[in-house]
Amino acid sequence: MTAFIDILTPYAIKHGRAHRVLPSLIIAQGILESASGTSELATKANNLFGIKAGSEWSGDIYTKQTSENKSDGTIYYIDADFRKYPTLEGCVIDLVYKYVNGTGWESHNRYAAVLNQTDYKKATAAVKDAGYATDVNYSAKLNGLIEQYELTKYDKVGDNVVKIALDAGHGINTAGKRTPDSEREWSFNSKVLLACSARLNKYQDVQILRLDDTTGNTDVPLTIRTNKANAWKADALVSIHHNALVGKWGSHGGVETLVQEITASKASKDIAAIIQPRIVQAMELRDRGVKPKNNHMTRVSNMPAILTEGGFMDSTTDISALRSDAKLKAQGEAIADGLAVYFKLKLKVTGIPATTPPKEGVRKLYEPTSKAIKDSTEEVLKQLEAGDNGLSSIWRKKLNDVKLTDSDAIGLLFVAVSRGLLSK
Ligand SMILES: [Zn+2]
Repeated sequence: MTAFIDILTPYAIKHGRAHRVLPSLIIAQGILESASGTSELATKANNLFGIKAGSEWSGDIYTKQTSENKSDGTIYYIDADFRKYPTLEGCVIDLVYKYVNGTGWESHNRYAAVLNQTDYKKATAAVKDAGYATDVNYSAKLNGLIEQYELTKYDKVGDNVVKIALDAGHGINTAGKRTPDSEREWSFNSKVLLACSARLNKYQDVQILRLDDTTGNTDVPLTIRTNKANAWKADALVSIHHNALVGKWGSHGGVETLVQEITASKASKDIAAIIQPRIVQAMELRDRGVKPKNNHMTRVSNMPAILTEGGFMDSTTDISALRSDAKLKAQGEAIADGLAVYFKLKLKVTGIPATTPPKEGVRKLYEPTSKAIKDSTEEVLKQLEAGDNGLSSIWRKKLNDVKLTDSDAIGLLFVAVSRGLLSK
């Protein structure tokens, strides 16, 4: 039994986590429906969940006699076609696909409530409520297996969660913190923060804590902000600001990232060095570099901390970038992507097509077809976007939308190699 769980668990973790299906649910269903991997379908076709071939399936088929009940109670036998997979991973992918996309013949996804659960009892109830099985005790049986084999340990995201504390400086009405035309610094900061947060959410295993008042109405005292980040044990803190020189329009300008003078950790400096050029690129403003300075947020916080100044509010050149929601969004995403580089975050696999059923078996469920190609493409795209000859972000969008094919990915790899981006 434990041997069967050991085989199934890596697939359940890999595909379950990527699509927000609890691994404990997948493993328990595998145990229950295949008699722990001993059923005919499991041993002959790697099909643990009894998934039938259906007209949209063009992979291998395993034909098996199944019993059906007539309305008068008599039993008769028919041959039914089931999906046959090269490995058990295929049936796990198929099960997850069903939960993410629904049955395919309904406009809504009857399995939507299975997704994003943290409580296994809610997940098993959602499966049953969706009509997955006729057995009235189906969810109770799954719960029993999850408890017996302590499967929830596979649901815990564990120590690899990266906790990011974000802070939009000041409050909306804080005295002084505004442009010569009275636009508020907090409004700029908050837009950047929201874009940063949204982008971070696209990565796996990230938690975000916001330190300022989300409405801006209260200028939360700085000590409360750093206490919050310290108590939460954040892995990094980014305080987002926009600069002012004297509060009168002038030709000065540029982006800078501040680290605590003298005492900044190496991690703080590394994060600043990664993020600063990305903000410069996003805002298309002058590069004032990473600077040491004394600030409460970077001094009192216990974790790596930076304070970004994404341009000058009283600069005649910078102000148009600050007034551009697109640039503020790009700035937020630049901060998020910089953090992702530093913490080696991986993008969530978001793009199983919503309506297209798998046409050619398991191999075509994801594009690019190999995770290795996808991962290295992601790395290449990050680097290509960052460099001077930055590549259009449509490629990353294509990757995220699952529209990037293997040949696209290979082409991009060649570009990267020829530009020396992969030689380290
Ligand atoms: Zn500020």
